[in-house]
This record gives sequence, structure tokens and C-alpha cells, in this order.
Amino acid sequence: MLPLVYHPVYSELVLPPKHRYPITKYHRLYLHLTQEMRIQHWADVRFFQPEPATAAELKTLHQADYIDHLIHNTLPAAKMRRIGFPWSPQLIERTLTSTAGTRLTVDLAHQYGISLHLSGGYHHAHHDFGSGFCLVNDLAFAARHALTLPGIDKVMIVDCDVHQGDGTATLLADDSNIITFSVHCDKNFPARKPDSDIDLALPRDTGTEDYLSAFGAVLTLALAQHQPDLVIYDAGVDIHQDDALGYFQVTTEGIFRRDQRVIQQCHDAAIPLAAVVGGGYRDDHQQLVDIHAQLFLAALAVHQPHRQPTQPGTMSDVQEI
Ligand SMILES: [Zn+2]
Repeated sequence: MLPLVYHPVYSELVLPPKHRYPITKYHRLYLHLTQEMRIQHWADVRFFQPEPATAAELKTLHQADYIDHLIHNTLPAAKMRRIGFPWSPQLIERTLTSTAGTRLTVDLAHQYGISLHLSGGYHHAHHDFGSGFCLVNDLAFAARHALTLPGIDKVMIVDCDVHQGDGTATLLADDSNIITFSVHCDKNFPARKPDSDIDLALPRDTGTEDYLSAFGAVLTLALAQHQPDLVIYDAGVDIHQDDALGYFQVTTEGIFRRDQRVIQQCHDAAIPLAAVVGGGYRDDHQQLVDIHAQLFLAALAVHQPHRQPTQPGTMSDVQEI
């Protein structure tokens, strides 16, 4: 069974015209998976819906004052500007729900071996401030939660979003049982990049083959060295050659191969894998859907190969069964 985590509130946020955040992509991805791919008809998948996390739960990770001000709309204007969203009740609702969604994805991965979240990857949220469209760090929150589960003594966060996971790095700097691994563009947001346990910074214009060989080698070493009991994977697609905020030249097929590699290596090593969709930016939100869908196709290729289309990245020859 392939458990998927989704909630409609992920896209229920009204933003000013021309805002850069592709808020509709979550709902579009859900529609793509269920109506276009009809994934529930030809694969053994099931959707799960999270309940919002509570303020008290978030205060175990973030500064209590920050969470209170965030929820009650009393943050200073400069702190809201750094986050990059206008405050609204919907913004808080989707943030609390998405944070719980990544935690639920970890629970389901622990139970079923793999689970995928149609949101998540808010890695620029720090202890007492948010930034870069990130209010609460769901990756760090879910990683700490994972350590409370039976048999999970070490967790690795593999962050493949094109931007460095600065918030995750600072929040978890003292958590010796959570290994943070970020592969990102060396000259891109955030300007200041605090040390993760493992940082792989690649130059602008890195293409598919260079990306996959560099990342693949470090991934293999990292898994062998640290032998995590669970991996949280940020499958950000802002490494794509057409992304508005990335500077890499990775193709859609390259993203499929990246995702397949992570999923296959975890599968082969019997490491539960909880994946989130992460970043991906452009004006035409619908264009992002096919690219984010690669994560789901890669998971099916590894976990349910008998039900796979013959060509990665397309569903043209899939019959409803
Ligand atoms: Zn990003």
C-alpha cells in the first residue's frame, strides 16, 4: 500500500495578484493524481487527511512567543515581510495542517515503509522567526516526532530543494540523532547558509548528469555512514531547468531519476521513507504538477512495479484496472 497525505486547506489561501507562491499547486496535484492519472484505480494507494497541529505541539520546536504572535497576528511587520505572506486565518490553518501532515507522513512511513505528502518542506522556518514562505518547520517537527516511534533511534533528513535547508540546520544543530543533509545551489537563497550535518553545494547551471552523480555518491555514503532508521525526503522540484527561483538545469526526467534513486536506496536498505513535495515555482502553476508528479511515479516504480506504465513520466499507456 502506498499511503498519500493531503488536505484541501493546503491550497485554500487567497494571495495578492502576482504573488510568487504557487498556492494552487497542491490542489492541482491532487486533481492530477486522482482524476488524470486515476491513481486510486490502478495502484494500491490510499489518501489520509491530517488534523491541524496544536500551538502547544509547535512550541516544543519553536519559541513559544513566536508561535503565539504568529497565531494571533501580532508579529512585527518586519517579521511578516520576512515570511513573505500576508497574515490570514487561512494561512495559519494551512500551516498547522501541513505541519501535522508531514508528521502523519512519518507515522505512515513507519507503518507501511513509505508515505508521500502532497505538501511540506518548509525548511526556512527557524526557532523564533519564519522566512522564505516558511512559518513552521515541518521537517524538523516530524523528525523529532519520528524519534518517539518504536525502533526509530536515528533519522536523516535528505533535503533536495534547490535552496539550502537553513532553518532545519539551526533547529536541529544539537540533535545528534537527526542527520541533516542538504543538496542545494551554492549561490541562491538563503544568503547565509548555516551548517547542516552534510551540505552539498553545487554551482549554478548544474545539469542532470552532474547533479545525479554528485548527489548519488553523497547519498550512498551518508546512508552507509549513518544508517538511519527513517528518512524524511524533501523532493523539491525547484532544481528544474525552467524553475523561476532555481538556477539548475535538471530535466523532468532527471527529477524522476533523483526521486527513484532515493526511494530505491531506502527500499533496498529497508529504511522507511517519508517524502514531501517541497519547493517548485513558476507563474503557470499547472506546469508544476507534471514535475511534482515524478515523485509519485518514482514511488510506484519502486514499490508497485507490476502496476507501472512503461515510460517514466507519462501515464499514456496506463489502463484502469
Ligand atoms: Zn526551494
